[in-house]
Amino acid sequence: MTGPRLVPCPHCGQPAPFEPANRWRPFCSQRCREIDLGAWAREDYRVPDQGRDGAEPGLPDDPQDFPH
Ligand SMILES: [Zn+2]
Repeated sequence: MTGPRLVPCPHCGQPAPFEPANRWRPFCSQRCREIDLGAWAREDYRVPDQGRDGAEPGLPDDPQDFPH
């Protein structure tokens, strides 16, 4: 093994050492990591407003349909 393995930073594309010494791996720096994770979290926040569509027709479940 010679030298750390370099991986492209997911944010800026610069080669970043992928090793325990690089605490921001696979990012090249704390800045890139925070920016990237921040953008990710913000996108995650915008949950589409679904589920409150209302006006759901009742199920055709009539027990009186059965002949007694
Ligand atoms: Zn970077």
